[in-house]
Amino acid sequence: MKTAVIGVGHLGKLHAKMYSRIPDSEFTGVFDVNSDAAIAVAEEYGIKAFSSLDEAFKSVEAVSIVTSTPYHFEVAKQAILAGVHVFIEKPITTTADQAKELIALAKSKKVNIQVGHIERFNPAILSIEKYNIQPMFIESHRLAQFKLRGADVAVVLDLMIHDIDIILHLVKSPVVRVDANGVGIISGTIDIANARIQFENGCVANVTASRISQHPMRKMRIFQKNAYLSVDFSAGSCDVFRIADPDEEETTPALMLGQIDVGPVSKNIVYEQPEVREVNALEYEISLFLKSVKNQTIPPVSGEDGLKALEIAQEIIAQIEANVKSLTE
Ligand code: NAD
Repeated sequence: MKTAVIGVGHLGKLHAKMYSRIPDSEFTGVFDVNSDAAIAVAEEYGIKAFSSLDEAFKSVEAVSIVTSTPYHFEVAKQAILAGVHVFIEKPITTTADQAKELIALAKSKKVNIQVGHIERFNPAILSIEKYNIQPMFIESHRLAQFKLRGADVAVVLDLMIHDIDIILHLVKSPVVRVDANGVGIISGTIDIANARIQFENGCVANVTASRISQHPMRKMRIFQKNAYLSVDFSAGSCDVFRIADPDEEETTPALMLGQIDVGPVSKNIVYEQPEVREVNALEYEISLFLKSVKNQTIPPVSGEDGLKALEIAQEIIAQIEANVKSLTE
């Protein structure tokens, strides 16, 4: 399948590297408004530096759109109108209305949209697939040190949206209420934010994101009936504590951590670290995108998923901005 990358800045260069080595991809060219950047990447892979978006979209079947976020919408719209399948980096667009327009357009042109919520493919989160995940309470922390890159948008769109997407994917129940707080400390937008997301089935997610932290951390703790799972995205590992099944004591005694008294009975607690596969998350998500195009199936992170995450992120931003306004008035 002929492929191209649009926007070859920091992340676009990594997309280019992946397209050059994924078997389903015939990496054909790149386009960037910064033609020097495009030429440098084109020379590295012996491919074309397209002179326009039009030329790129006439030459390929699938593209990654890795431009700065404000350009996702117009570039993706042009691609979809030309019948090209699009992998759009996260967040899908700047506004929910734009995302809805792209989704409707893609449906009518019968092309796929996948959104770059890469943390869904983090080996640590992939390792919990074998458990029956039914969260009742989630606590997540995504803390980073300050960097100028990405600070043009609220930390909610830059960092928290990764956790929002994963939480919406895990909980599988409509959101009924969002309460959020946050402030801008260094940049002109929100640098630290906390949101409490409540779902119809009773689950609550308490989500914190910061880009002004001294110590980076990317963790999600999932609490559910009989189990607690702690996912460390940075370390690529997961710790699971759960109540043992009745027959487990004999078969896997090494895993037994101890007993707790629950009323008249004692229950065994198991500690385990699920096996973590060696996965390059970016390569994996792009290869799944190309497979979905090839097999005409729904991509793993669809345009609708990108829209849902964006809508929650925007609700959080709106509440924080209203709070900040009342604080400074
Ligand atoms: P960047 O500024 O390094 O690169 C953006 C590139 O896009 C630049 O080379 C710029 O010249 C080019 N560009 C801008 N407008 C264009 C247009 N209309 N047509 C063609 N090229 C255009 O930014 P980045 O850090 O690589 O981020 C790019 C996107 O990737 C952003 O949407 C960002 O949110 C997303 N991102 C996602 C993750 C993730 O974890 N999935 C991480 C970082 C960035």
